Amino acid sequence: MGINIALDGPSGAGKSTIARLTAQRLGFIYVDTGALYRSTALYAIAKGADLDDNKQIADLLSDLKLDLTYINSVQAVLVNGEDVSDKIRTPEVSMAASKVSAIPEVRAFLLDTQRNIAKENDIIMDGRDIGTVVLPDAQVKIFLTASAEERASRRFKELQEKGDASSYEEILADINKRDYNDSHREIAPLKQADDAVLVDSTSMKIDEVVEKIVSLAQKAKSETIKKNDDEAVKKKEHSRTDKSLMETRPITKMHKINPVRQFFYGIVRPFVRFIFKRWFVLSYEGLENVPNDGGNIFASNHRSYGDPVFIALNARVPISYMAKEELFKQNIFFTWLIKFWGAFPVVRGTGDTAVIDTSIEKLESGRNLAIFPEGTRSKTGEVGKGKNGVALIAAVAQTKIIPVGINFEGEKLCRKKRIIVRYGKPIIPSELGVTEASPKNVKKLKKEVMTAIKELVH
Ligand code: C5P
Repeated sequence: MGINIALDGPSGAGKSTIARLTAQRLGFIYVDTGALYRSTALYAIAKGADLDDNKQIADLLSDLKLDLTYINSVQAVLVNGEDVSDKIRTPEVSMAASKVSAIPEVRAFLLDTQRNIAKENDIIMDGRDIGTVVLPDAQVKIFLTASAEERASRRFKELQEKGDASSYEEILADINKRDYNDSHREIAPLKQADDAVLVDSTSMKIDEVVEKIVSLAQKAKSETIKKNDDEAVKKKEHSRTDKSLMETRPITKMHKINPVRQFFYGIVRPFVRFIFKRWFVLSYEGLENVPNDGGNIFASNHRSYGDPVFIALNARVPISYMAKEELFKQNIFFTWLIKFWGAFPVVRGTGDTAVIDTSIEKLESGRNLAIFPEGTRSKTGEVGKGKNGVALIAAVAQTKIIPVGINFEGEKLCRKKRIIVRYGKPIIPSELGVTEASPKNVKKLKKEVMTAIKELVH
């Protein structure tokens, strides 16, 4: 749900002007619900209906289709496909709208249209019952009012500019009548919601009112973001404590890789391999240690961004690999590319245990998994300290670990760089007596893996 601002108040209080300006400031959509009642009234007039006959009006609704569209953020109302935005602004339609809006069937008919727009978007919606009936959960509710005389004089000036000949007295009488109708009807009468902020604009400037609503909306927005964040954290914590993380879950049932993905991988891999082998001077050792199936972990030292590709080029089954979350926030092409190559994000330094579950899911889905236990690239080529993740995942899932050593001289990859990728003998947890993911076992397995990687880097 987006941020919803409900703006209610009597006719002529300045709701539409305020709502339009506020929407512009906040980049929200302005939904003028009065236009829906006006359009219904216009339709009833056009059909020659008796506006005092509720049943006649209610019967017309089955053939009425109202749509709100937004062109450059300006609302247009379509009655059975015809844009009536200009036709609904006459005093005759205003009074007719006030009448038809008291009919329960009309209000029910328009309710979904209003709620559906609010559900998906950040909106400011003005009307009479928005805070009380249409959007009772709106984060910001304003009841905007002004004295009847002030409202009449504002409307008088507005109509005079349009060349309308109505007198001030007529307008005041009209406003009083509409106020009475709106607040005395049985259904959804005009009234301030208990949690709405009352704003009396009689002696306030437009800018001041807008400013007030904007600051209330900004506050609501940051509270909503915080609430959503808190809920996400709670959910995550819940999922962590829910499942015993250390519980051994051997991968017994492995799924088959999606055939379409496998097919593309089968085409792309030899092609990329051909290019990489020539672009760099790339050679491999220990290829007999690379399994033909999926569900294995490749644990490698980390030298460059090319490493996931160097490792993957010899695996017949696609490899997934953890990549720091920041990498997914670069440009769209890069994000697509690393996702295509099987990357999934890990939040570093937070003990992101959800990533363990994701890794096991990847293995269960039949993919291989590549992990760089050092967590970060080594510029010198020296193998640093390993983190527990790889051993923990292998111990929980009881999968093989294939140690990998990536070797090249110097810091950076460049054309014609001589690169040797060595695959070591698979390490099988159960053969080391690691049949459960106890801290002692994880430590033991990690030591084994890091020693094997170091031996492959020389
Ligand atoms: O706001 P506006 O003057 O365009 O609304 C026209 C009429 O529609 C109002 O006089 C009021 O009777 C009715 N209305 C309503 N509920 C709303 C919006 C408008 O009853 N949410």
